[in-house]
Amino acid sequence: MKRILVTGGAGFIGSHLCERLLREGNEVICLDNYFTGSKQNVVHLLNNPYFELVRHDVTEPYFAEVDEIYNLACPASPPFYQYNPIKTIKTSVMGAINMLGLAKRVNAKILQASTSEVYGDPKVHPQPESYWGNVNPIGIRSCYDEGKRCAETLFMDYHNQNNVKIKIIRIFNTYGPRMNPNDGRVVSNFIMQALKGEDITIFGDGKQTRSFQYVDDLVEGMIRMMNSEDAFIGPVNIGNPGEFTMIELAEKIIKMTQSNSKLVFQKLPQDDPLQRKPVIDLAETILNGWNPMVDLNDGLQKTISYYEHLLCSEEAI
Ligand code: NAD
Ligand code: UDP
Repeated sequence: MKRILVTGGAGFIGSHLCERLLREGNEVICLDNYFTGSKQNVVHLLNNPYFELVRHDVTEPYFAEVDEIYNLACPASPPFYQYNPIKTIKTSVMGAINMLGLAKRVNAKILQASTSEVYGDPKVHPQPESYWGNVNPIGIRSCYDEGKRCAETLFMDYHNQNNVKIKIIRIFNTYGPRMNPNDGRVVSNFIMQALKGEDITIFGDGKQTRSFQYVDDLVEGMIRMMNSEDAFIGPVNIGNPGEFTMIELAEKIIKMTQSNSKLVFQKLPQDDPLQRKPVIDLAETILNGWNPMVDLNDGLQKTISYYEHLLCSEEAI
């Protein structure tokens, strides 16, 4: 049995990861300050004697004897990470320093949840890991993008200088049950708007693209990466190469929810990337044939059902 620390474990992805790690017979410490996550996401795990929930902010040092660390703590949705940009960059940078320091001290393996945002508004399409990106260092997305880029640098430097066993994955847009319905990301926004019969808010002309990955595929990739041989440190892209415009996504969701919602067009936020699609050859080769298994229709159906239940239980209160 391994003892595994998951920072940001009460968030959307973190809660799925904690669940899976417990199912595989590990002991899990879930650390979170509940900025964008909630106890509700992990309440079903609290009866498990091998699960521990700790309220803690990763910008402060933390100590525990652990074998592995998954570092996920960081708000991921633009409205939330832009709410307090200084705190966002502190979370990425000081959080990385604190968790790498812990990994060094207890000789734990540590995985960083990096992001496709390190490619910024990419000029190379699709994006391989070798692309250095096109990131504005002083824009409204910079606190997140540059924070994550600096965290990657810190991971590499702790590895090269102190032999810390590191793993870096670059996660592309991921969706699924337990995404905060109010967090402002496109999948949760469109589904909630469609279910409530409200206008669907398309930013810009809606021709920008994203590649959407279902959360179970990501968790599988994360665990395979953590368990891959020590010499393979990444960075490696983990995403689903299926690429869709925001109009295509909206139309799909309207159809699946049989909604009467109409599309309305709003201003495109500053520095919003025009296109994004991962090259996943490296993950396929190194992670024993890892491949996304859940296509967008199936994943959206599961996510729509989750939000339908959420709305029903809200109505019942
Ligand atoms: P999320 O907002 O649901 O989860 C982030 C969690 O981190 C939340 O529980 C939040 O409360 C916690 N947190 C934030 N600041 C903290 C701090 N200072 N100390 C302790 N905990 C803190 O978002 P998510 O989608 O689950 O993302 C998880 C990780 O994956 C993030 O690091 C994010 O950057 C990365 N990622 C996600 C996506 C995606 O599409 N979902 C894409 C790329 C990268
Ligand atoms: N978007 C949109 N309507 C919304 C929310 C987002 O059109 O209500 C667009 C947003 O401008 C971006 C894409 O959807 O082009 C994905 O946005 P999200 O915040 O989910 O992820 P990110 O931009 O970080 O990839």
